[in-house]
Amino acid sequence: MARMIQAVCRLCRREGVKLFLKGDRCVSEKCAFDKRGYNPGQHGQGRQRKLSDYGMQLREKQKVKRIYGILEKQFRTYFAKAEQRKGVTGENLLQILERRLDNVVFKSCFVSSRSHGRQMVKHGLITVNDEKVDIPSYLVEKDDVIKVHAKDANLKRIAGDLKANKDRGIPEWISLDETGLAATILRLPERDDVGFPVQEQLIIELYSK
Ligand code: SF4
Repeated sequence: MARMIQAVCRLCRREGVKLFLKGDRCVSEKCAFDKRGYNPGQHGQGRQRKLSDYGMQLREKQKVKRIYGILEKQFRTYFAKAEQRKGVTGENLLQILERRLDNVVFKSCFVSSRSHGRQMVKHGLITVNDEKVDIPSYLVEKDDVIKVHAKDANLKRIAGDLKANKDRGIPEWISLDETGLAATILRLPERDDVGFPVQEQLIIELYSK
């Protein structure tokens, strides 16, 4: 487990930015990036090389993939979908990522990280419009109701987590029913709803080569 924590935190250090992959740990004094915000590895503290245009594009793509916990193949599929849709490709891509069910579970504050959101979905603890959905990549639609569906003991724990996570804030496109442990999608997320700095144009440039 300790190795897992280290491996995940190395990603933040590699990208030079906090990716918030470990839930509560990320806002505690245990955050590895806050303690050692330089590149991982033996020469991590050495002089930083200036990145080429390609390097910057690659790092931006890696950052976004890591934040949402997505592998290359799926990320490419999302990009292809985003390209096919009307509108700005970069914004379409971010909207698709935001609509993933594991992200919605995280954004609704039921859990402290997207990876916990993915676990919760995979364990069958989430329903969408009263139907169990155990696919983290499921894309929510406007008016969908996402609900926690668990045994009493689990419900208590999740309600407690929600209380603690709520300080993070619920985005405007989601309405939270705290008592019912349910979230309604009021509208589809937009570019400004992403909630972390991203230069999606760099990703477009990378994939357009
Ligand atoms: Fe680890 Fe800090 Fe990154 Fe969270 S933000 S994953 S604790 S380095």
